[in-house]
Amino acid sequence: MFRLFNTLTRKVEDFKPLNPPKVGMYTCGPTVYDFAHIGNLRTYLFEDLLQRTLEADGFQVKRVMNITDIEDKIIKKAKEKGVEIKEITEPFTEAFWEDLNKLNIKPADVYPKATEHIGQMIKYIEALIKNGLAYMEKDGSVYFDISKFPEYGKLSQLDKREIKVGARVAVDEYEKENAQDFALWKSVGPDEVGYNSPWGKGRPGWHIECSVMSQEYLGETFDLHGGAVDLIFPHHENEIAQSEGKTGKKFVKFFVEGEHLLVNGQKMAKSLGNFFTLRDIEQEGFDPMALRYLVLTAHYRDKLNFTWESLEAASNALNNLREEVRSWDQPKIGCAEYEQRFMEAVDNDLNVPQALAVMWELVRSDYPTSAKAESLLKFDKILGLKLDEYLGKPLEVPEKVQKLVEEREKARSRKDFKKSDELRDQIKKLGYEVEDTSQGPKVRKT
Ligand code: AMP
Ligand code: ZN
Repeated sequence: MFRLFNTLTRKVEDFKPLNPPKVGMYTCGPTVYDFAHIGNLRTYLFEDLLQRTLEADGFQVKRVMNITDIEDKIIKKAKEKGVEIKEITEPFTEAFWEDLNKLNIKPADVYPKATEHIGQMIKYIEALIKNGLAYMEKDGSVYFDISKFPEYGKLSQLDKREIKVGARVAVDEYEKENAQDFALWKSVGPDEVGYNSPWGKGRPGWHIECSVMSQEYLGETFDLHGGAVDLIFPHHENEIAQSEGKTGKKFVKFFVEGEHLLVNGQKMAKSLGNFFTLRDIEQEGFDPMALRYLVLTAHYRDKLNFTWESLEAASNALNNLREEVRSWDQPKIGCAEYEQRFMEAVDNDLNVPQALAVMWELVRSDYPTSAKAESLLKFDKILGLKLDEYLGKPLEVPEKVQKLVEEREKARSRKDFKKSDELRDQIKKLGYEVEDTSQGPKVRKT
C-alpha cells in the first residue's frame, strides 16, 4: 500500500484515490519568462518520482501541469525588450521541454496554457461573485473575500501562524480591511496587455489560473496536487478557497509539497541571484542526469543544499553504476527479496534515498548479474536513470584512446613509468580512465 504525507492533515496516510486505478494529478508548472533553475527542476523531479511510483503500484495517472504564459514578470520583460509576449514565452516554453527531456522527466498528459483559458477564468470569477465570495473594486479589479470562506487557512494552518505574528496581523487589519483578500482579476489601463471582461480590461490573478485549469481537466474533485513548499501559502491555500467556494465540494484529497533546493543554506531563487540552470551545469561538464541522481539522494521533504562537490559525487556514483552494468548478462528472473525491500521504501512516503541504498546493496551482492539486471531495470522504472542504455553494452573505446592504452601497456612492460604516466594523462584529457587490473587494463569513461 502506497503511503504519502498529506499537507491537509500533516500525516502520512494510505493513498486511496477517488476512482482506482485512476489517479488525477495536478502540479503547478513554470512561469515561462526565463530558464528554469535547478531548484524548480528539483520540484519537477520529485513530482516525476511520485508519478513513476504510482505507476509502479499499478495506478493509471492522468497528469496535468499548467504553463503560466501571462504574468507581470513576462509582461515586464517583453516591454523591456520591445517584443511581443509570445517572443518571450515560446522560446522559454521550448527550453522547459528540453530540460524535462534531458532529466528524463515523463511528460504530462496535458499542459494547459493560461492564455488559452481566459474565457473559463472569467466564468469562474463570475460564479464566485454570484456565490458572494468575491467583490469588484471601483477600479474594475475583482478580489476574493476570505472572510466569506470560513475554512480559509486550513491547508497552511494560518490560525497557528496568526498567533505567532498576532500583533502585525491585527495592525494590518485595522489599517486595511480585508488585507489578505487576493486578486482574481486585476484591472489594467487601456494601453496595457489585457483581456476584455464584464469588469473592464484586465488580467487574471495567478491563483485563479490553477483552480480553473486543474478542474477543467481533472474534474471538481481530484486526487493529488503538487508543488514546492513555498506554494502552500498563499497559492494552494487560495486555490482551495476558490475551488471549494465555487463548487461546495472538496477540491483535492492530497496536497504534496516538496522541500527546497538551497545554496549556502538559502532557498535558490531568481530574486536572490543565487541560482544555476541546467545549462550552467552542462557548461561545467556535467551530464544533466547527475542532477537527477543528486535529487534522488535526498528525501523530498528534506531540504537539499546544492554544492558542486555534491553534484560531483552524484556524477561519480552514476558513472560507477553505468560502468558496473556494462558487463552484466541480459535480465532473467529477478531477486524478489530486493524488489520487495525497494518497493517498501518508495511506498513509505517516497523514501527514495533508502530505495537507492537497497539498489546499491543489490548491485554489490553475489546474485548472478542476470538476476540483478532484471531487478535493476524494475527499479529504474522509478529512478529513471536510463540504465537500459548501459546494461550489457561494453564501452566502445575510440580508436585514438585504444592506441594510447596499448602504448601505455608497452611503456609499462619496459618499466618506463614516466612515459606511462604521461600517457595516462593524455587518456584522461580525452575523457577516459585506465585502471590496471590482474586481467589487464580496464578503460572507463570519466
Ligand atoms: P516558478 O516558475 O517560480 O513558478 O516555480 C516553479 C516551481 O518551482 C514551483 O513549484 C515552485 O514552488 C518551485 N520552486 C521554486 N524555487 C524552488 C527551490 N529553491 N527549490 C525547489 N523548488 C522550488
Ligand atoms: Zn498553481
